[in-house]
Amino acid sequence: MDMKVKGSKELLTEVIDAGLCTLCGACAGGCPYLVFYKGRIVLLDSCTLSQGQCYQYCPRTYTDMDAISQQVFGTPYSGDELGTTKEVLMTRSTDTRIKESAQYGGTVTTLLSLALEEGFIDGAILTKMSDDKTPSAFLAQSREEMLKSAGSNYMACPVLQALNQLPKDSEQRLAVVAMPCQILALSKMRQEPPQDRMNVGNVKLVVGLFCTWALSPDGFHQFLKENLNLPQVTKFDIPPPPANIFEAYTPSDKISFPLDEIRRFVMPACAYCLDMTSEFADISVGSVEGIAGWNTVIIRTDVGAQLIEMAKEKGKLEVDILLPENLAHLKEASLLKKKRALQEIITRSGDRKNLLYVSLQQSIIDRLLA
Ligand SMILES: Cc1cc2nc3c(=O)[nH]c(=O)nc-3n(C[C@H](O)[C@H](O)[C@H](O)COP(=O)(O)OP(=O)(O)OC[C@H]3O[C@@H](n4cnc5c(N)ncnc54)[C@H](O)[C@@H]3O)c2cc1C
Repeated sequence: MDMKVKGSKELLTEVIDAGLCTLCGACAGGCPYLVFYKGRIVLLDSCTLSQGQCYQYCPRTYTDMDAISQQVFGTPYSGDELGTTKEVLMTRSTDTRIKESAQYGGTVTTLLSLALEEGFIDGAILTKMSDDKTPSAFLAQSREEMLKSAGSNYMACPVLQALNQLPKDSEQRLAVVAMPCQILALSKMRQEPPQDRMNVGNVKLVVGLFCTWALSPDGFHQFLKENLNLPQVTKFDIPPPPANIFEAYTPSDKISFPLDEIRRFVMPACAYCLDMTSEFADISVGSVEGIAGWNTVIIRTDVGAQLIEMAKEKGKLEVDILLPENLAHLKEASLLKKKRALQEIITRSGDRKNLLYVSLQQSIIDRLLA
């Protein structure tokens, strides 16, 4: 293990108590001490290991972006707005049932269902909502179970805990759908596979979601409970700018909250995140500004390209070009996230040479601070 790797004590002081934890779940579920409880990761007992996988895979401990990019794409980290891309497109499902329950175009659920149908995967780690709209990650092994995960829950959910909890000897080939921070942690795991846990080599497909920020599961759930009859809610949405609202749908109504009322529940850790488009995924998926019912899709790897091609051939996805103005907006928003995060990191560390957790080439830092 690298000398920079420390133990759970330092994970607690440097990340969790420091407000840098994204709740990705990479540290939980793999050892008896760290668990997700009431919206945060807690250390149940003192662990004496001076180096631990909890610290190693955390996306907010030392992260060498070049090494991760080399691992995923075979090239150093470019620092470009959208990361490494093969193609950026617009897609939507052709499946009526998926479209009915999906967040936007149902691209994510369609791709998973196709990958399962074609025997490319045996299951997928996804997120579903309980009746009271608490998100939790689970292993979906059928199309029906995949459909249960359709739709966005804007609260952070420790997705990687569910991955860590899979049996060590499982040979199931998996997809993972996750947020940018979670995919960064997963990439760290793939770079140096965990010992005595599930085989991370079984992850064959990584689908990333776009993310500006996620909400604190504790505080925000309380807010939702106070303001809505949660079992009745069928969908949440944060429509693309300039709407500036958070919406909750019920069978008969749509309740809107100003986004400014919601922002106080944003996870503090999100301020330090440089990645809006899940740059280390095989395929990244988000909304399309101004075009309802479609997804923006970034194809990044050969695996991603093959799956989209298959979906097109089999008529599972409608595919169209992304308008230049949409692409320009996406790049602008993504660059803004990088610039803001870097400023926040430097303000916090007080030193342009100390980027807290991230290691970036100087030329990229200069470009982002210009
Ligand atoms: C917290 C959050 C913030 C987001 N921010 C943006 C944004 O700023 N801009 C943008 O364009 N898009 C954003 N998205 C992505 C967007 O909401 C859709 O998930 C995406 O466009 C895919 O749409 P779809 O119709 O293909 O999804 P579906 O086919 O409906 O599939 C949804 C998938 O999302 C997963 N999911 C749902 N909730 C969570 C969660 N809490 N954690 C991890 N996975 C989850 C499910 O497992 C499911 O596989 C965000 C999503 C989340 C969860």
